[in-house]
Amino acid sequence: MLNIVLFGPPGAGKGTQSQKLIARYNLVHLSTGDLLRSQITQGTELGLRAKKLMDEGLLVPDEVVIGMIESQLANNTTAAGFIFDGFPRTVPQAQSLDALTQRYDTGVSCMIALEVAEEELVKRLLERGKTSGRPDDQNEEKIRKRVKVYNTETAQVAGYYAEQQKFHSLNGIGVIDDIFGQICGIIDRHQPASSVASNPAAATDEVKA
Ligand code: ADP
Repeated sequence: MLNIVLFGPPGAGKGTQSQKLIARYNLVHLSTGDLLRSQITQGTELGLRAKKLMDEGLLVPDEVVIGMIESQLANNTTAAGFIFDGFPRTVPQAQSLDALTQRYDTGVSCMIALEVAEEELVKRLLERGKTSGRPDDQNEEKIRKRVKVYNTETAQVAGYYAEQQKFHSLNGIGVIDDIFGQICGIIDRHQPASSVASNPAAATDEVKA
């Protein structure tokens, strides 16, 4: 399986690149933000609790998002792989993702981080807020809070994958298709062992089935 973690601060372009990646690699897109917003729309108790935190730019508790990912993996056992977008956002979430994917004899292939400076993020998110209807995109103070939460709580997840030689980062400012091309270049170096079987030299220690 090909399991990609797309990483970066809010507004870095993870959603845009995810849409292009699922089409190219036939992967299932798992965005914890989208899953949470769907719970809000359905008016579930989980959604109601999450909404308060999301509107404030705070993270929802690890066990909530881990539980959602666990059931999504169980519902998609025949998938060619996954794009994780907005997850993991904390080290315990990253550890859980390793444990959950191991159940299916797979693991995270690589993490790709999109780097974008705060002022550009604020500009992009305020622009998105004009049409997205997302309360967390419509207020500069809340946007800056989300960036701060990313820098203080989430950025350390990069170190978790760097220790496993799975971390890559790219400049997230530029032409969307150019950035996509660079992401594909990284992914193609991490193709799972099954798809490089005819070329064993292409398989490396860091590639997991
Ligand atoms: P963005 O990356 O633009 O902030 P997301 O849609 O990924 O947007 O997330 C929106 C909000 O949902 C976050 O600010 C947070 O409150 C919550 N959320 C999403 N994913 C997670 C996660 N993995 N852990 C905790 N909270 C999350």
